[in-house]
Amino acid sequence: IRHLLKDPSLFKEDAFIDGSWFKAKTGDTFAVHNPATGELIAQVSNLGPHEAELAVTAAENAFQGWKNKTGKERAVMMRRWFDLITQNAQDLAILMTLEQGKPLVEATGEVAYGASFIEWFAEEAKRVAGSIPTTTWSDKRTIVMKQAIGVCVAITPWNFPMAMITRKIAPAMAAGCTIVIKPAELTPLSALALAELALRAGIPSGVINILTADAEQSIAIGKTLCASPTVRHLSFTGSTEVGRILMAQCAPTVKKLALELGGHAPFIVFEDADIDAAVAGAVMSKYRNSGQTCVCANRFYVHKTVHDAFVEKFAKAVQKIIVGNGMEAGITQGPLIEPAALEKVERHVADALSKGATLVSGGKRSALGGTFYEPTILTNVSNDMLITYEETFGPVAPIMTFESDEEVIRLANHSQFGLASYFYSRDIGRIWRAAEALEYGIVGVNTGIISNEVAPFGGVKQSGLGREGSIYGMDEYLELKYVCLGL
Ligand code: ADP
Repeated sequence: IRHLLKDPSLFKEDAFIDGSWFKAKTGDTFAVHNPATGELIAQVSNLGPHEAELAVTAAENAFQGWKNKTGKERAVMMRRWFDLITQNAQDLAILMTLEQGKPLVEATGEVAYGASFIEWFAEEAKRVAGSIPTTTWSDKRTIVMKQAIGVCVAITPWNFPMAMITRKIAPAMAAGCTIVIKPAELTPLSALALAELALRAGIPSGVINILTADAEQSIAIGKTLCASPTVRHLSFTGSTEVGRILMAQCAPTVKKLALELGGHAPFIVFEDADIDAAVAGAVMSKYRNSGQTCVCANRFYVHKTVHDAFVEKFAKAVQKIIVGNGMEAGITQGPLIEPAALEKVERHVADALSKGATLVSGGKRSALGGTFYEPTILTNVSNDMLITYEETFGPVAPIMTFESDEEVIRLANHSQFGLASYFYSRDIGRIWRAAEALEYGIVGVNTGIISNEVAPFGGVKQSGLGREGSIYGMDEYLELKYVCLGL
């Protein structure tokens, strides 16, 4: 795939430890495939626990030097990295589409979104401030300082191969931490290209380390990283199931944790909603990345009086989605990431249909074959169907009706998850009431798109711990130290 890139040297198959490209001692590699074509696109070094130890040591050795730089010095290097990412955006987007499948326009959007965290936190690096609260002891002073927590680990998923990495490592780096990253085995190429650009930006050796590994070795590496007393912080984005495992594995060493786990976003259309706007928001929220985002709308609640009008317009809009290989012009929905993902979508749809749901559109694999699935709408959905409480991670919109605000808020909150939620209304009182009542970390009002670097991203309940991005995102990587100074 080098020939597709303006700068072929952004294509890397080796891991990155202590500022150098690194092969597994065993010489072992794992295959990366293009989900749109099934084609083998890379053979990436398959590392294990031994190399995980080496990466942690490299990060430990780099920590003092990096932490002791001024915030401004770190900011300058991060800014250089941001500029290089921006200059190479097209190549990064191509690599991402090839390994992940999302349409090139979406990949280009993710490169800008991913880079925005580096820009934002580079700026924040200069603004870390402690405090000196007024004393209650006249002969002593209270000083509160903020200090980098230490060596951090980031374990990231395949649905946003770049942004899920930068959203974690940018605040960590800005705070003065060093990092070991374990990208998803399905999408390591975006991570490695980022490392190449970090090297060119002059980020010192050991500040960023990337451990590539297949699914099995990822589990072994995860155990090593969790058990290491040197690692002070673990940030994970992925399934709630794996989040629980990592949380338990971090208990013996009492690590600080940031977890961005699953979601099951309700999308509510009240009777006073602007239906055209709700339809546009629903399409964006549901079908972006083929429905493979943790903030995708998972359940639609549409007021009884506007249900038919909404479904009719929604079905028309969904017909305009063009499924295909994301590298081709005009494609708006790529494949699902792998066969298991396709099977889950099929299972959810079959379960809903067997329990009485009505198929409005889609409902089957695309004629293109592979892991392509038609954008799907189901109505007459009820709460006993799997799709209303398990995360589908696919392009399926299940629609239910409701009659009162109290009822829909109760239904919307009836979930173990609490990441994103959405609703459409024009009534200011209702907007405040619903925004306050929804038990979710994020509420999109009259919009289907909510993520940006300025806003705190994260969930409540079993959707996770902590917030990423925003002025709050850096505190995750800083410890407070209280100094009591006798005069
Ligand atoms: P998804 O459902 O998005 O595929 P997973 O939670 O399975 O997400 O995986 C997200 C990331 O977690 C990937 O980088 C994967 O390699 C890693 N991972 C999965 N299981 C484990 C584990 N037991 N220990 C450490 N990392 C894991």
